[in-house]
Amino acid sequence: PVSPERKQNKSTTLDTSHPIEVRKQIRSHGLLPPNVESHALQAQRCLKQLASKTTSIEKYIYLSNLRNANSHLFYRLLLDNFSTLTPILYTPVVGEACLKWSEIYQRPEGLYVSWHDRGNIANVLRNWPKPKVEITVVTDGSRILGLGDLGVNGMGIPIGKLNLYTGCAGIRPENTLPLCLDLGTNNEAYLKDPLYLGARMKKVTDAEEKEFLDELMVALNTVWPGIVVQFEDFKNPFPALERYQHKYSCFNDDIQGTGAVILAGIINALKATGKPVKDQRAVFIGAGSAGVGVAKQIVEFFVKEGLTEDEARRCFWFVDTKGLITNDRGDKLAPHKIYFSRDDNNGQQFRDLEQVVDYVKPTMLLGLSTIRGAFNKTVLEKMAQLNDQPIIFPLSNPSSNAECSFEEAVKYTDGKAIFASGSPWLPFLYKNKILQPSQGNNVYVFPGIGLGAILSKAVHISQEMIYASAVALSNATNATEINDGKLYPDMDRIRDVSVIVCREVIKEAQAQGLDRETSIRGMSDADLDAWIRSRMYDPYKETGVDEGVQGEKIRGSPV
Ligand code: NAP
Ligand code: MN
Repeated sequence: PVSPERKQNKSTTLDTSHPIEVRKQIRSHGLLPPNVESHALQAQRCLKQLASKTTSIEKYIYLSNLRNANSHLFYRLLLDNFSTLTPILYTPVVGEACLKWSEIYQRPEGLYVSWHDRGNIANVLRNWPKPKVEITVVTDGSRILGLGDLGVNGMGIPIGKLNLYTGCAGIRPENTLPLCLDLGTNNEAYLKDPLYLGARMKKVTDAEEKEFLDELMVALNTVWPGIVVQFEDFKNPFPALERYQHKYSCFNDDIQGTGAVILAGIINALKATGKPVKDQRAVFIGAGSAGVGVAKQIVEFFVKEGLTEDEARRCFWFVDTKGLITNDRGDKLAPHKIYFSRDDNNGQQFRDLEQVVDYVKPTMLLGLSTIRGAFNKTVLEKMAQLNDQPIIFPLSNPSSNAECSFEEAVKYTDGKAIFASGSPWLPFLYKNKILQPSQGNNVYVFPGIGLGAILSKAVHISQEMIYASAVALSNATNATEINDGKLYPDMDRIRDVSVIVCREVIKEAQAQGLDRETSIRGMSDADLDAWIRSRMYDPYKETGVDEGVQGEKIRGSPV
């Protein structure tokens, strides 16, 4: 028997899994090749086609086409092969796709809103063909990954990120909106390229951007009240976050998501060393949005562990292109750097990281500088002399920008380092032991934060909710993973991890009275988890025509 729900699904997608009677009912009989196929079989065909593509960009294009042709099949394939497909759909391959967006463009996806649409943004939003939008990821393309200003070519980022929201947290794909703002670009090469798909204009001023974003936020909340807005890859993301975070349901993953995921790693690293927070001294190289966001999140943890805010803030030293950030360095500091700027350097200035390590004697070293090799042999050896278990987090992406590799961190600290990186590294055999690297990937938290905000109908996304996501993630690591020296859960468990993160985000929204979904107040953790799962999009259920293989995993090597 064919359920009405299933019939409805079938009417939107032509799928070779449809039994003949369904095909007759929805009048697709004859429009499909005659053989009725299981989804397992279809997935095998997809993997075969994917493997036949010789370049990453061709694999990316193949997956985009599959998503548009058969969304359920695409998501089922993604979940079955999460760790091999994510690097194609998101970093690093999405970066390459964005660089070449104007060349590989085949069809529109997502929504573009331009500077010329100001005064009329709500009407442009109303052109979106789907009735319900629960979440949008928005970028202006001005600082895509580590690749700089890519203008409207940045659209790959909202699309890729929302694929992960659906894959990891089960937000229904038709309720997601990839949104790219064209506020001009300062990318000269693109402005001269006839194939570039954006407006031929320089990036608008900060004041104009502010005016535009103000209208956008009102328009989004008029057309889809309560929509969750995730800001991504803006060159200067701080002003918008400050303006909107107490007003709308929104967050910035580059600042807050990164902060939460790295805090979770730090919490687990500190558990491993057993050293109290008051004895921690953290040196950061890189004081951009990521570095400062991470440190502020760790400050909050130190405060919860008993330090005053001032004591906590003073556990941090920042190094940027000009050296250690101090009040008397002689340059005008960007506003976001002031909070951590030192006033206790007695007039001394330190130009490079080695000097700073000698001066501070840090217990942990975090890199968000994009500078490959910044954690060199000397720096790492010093860290190992100073600490039994130095905490070494080279977080810059991609791996070609990482401050050090896993192998370097292990070798130069004689296997003592407690390590997490931004990009993946292979395990490393050292002194007859296979050592496992940890990867602080934002995908551990942002899907759960987004889903938590949607399901609780949060009026806004508070700092406490972000903090709750970090603690939830640190606790989601299980005993086996901890035994293996891992700071984060295995990626294969990402759906379970997202449920845990989502639950804790909801509970924090409830504790603060920010929730509008009254029906789930006071639920036990187990009941809340079950309720969350019941609300998640499940491509296996959607493609469950072949009952025999429902949920069967079809894995293959697409690379
Ligand atoms: P950003 O805003 O460009 O900041 C880069 C910072 O590094 C700036 O403060 C810059 O100094 C500093 N820097 C550059 N070269 C340096 C050098 N030679 N010596 C010392 N400092 C130097 O970038 P972001 O958005 O903060 O991101 C930084 C990195 O973090 C990226 O590689 C990104 O991939 C990574 N990231 C990782 C994760 C993760 O692991 N989950 C998440 C987000 C970002 P000035 O201020 O003086 O220019
Ligand atoms: Mn980003």
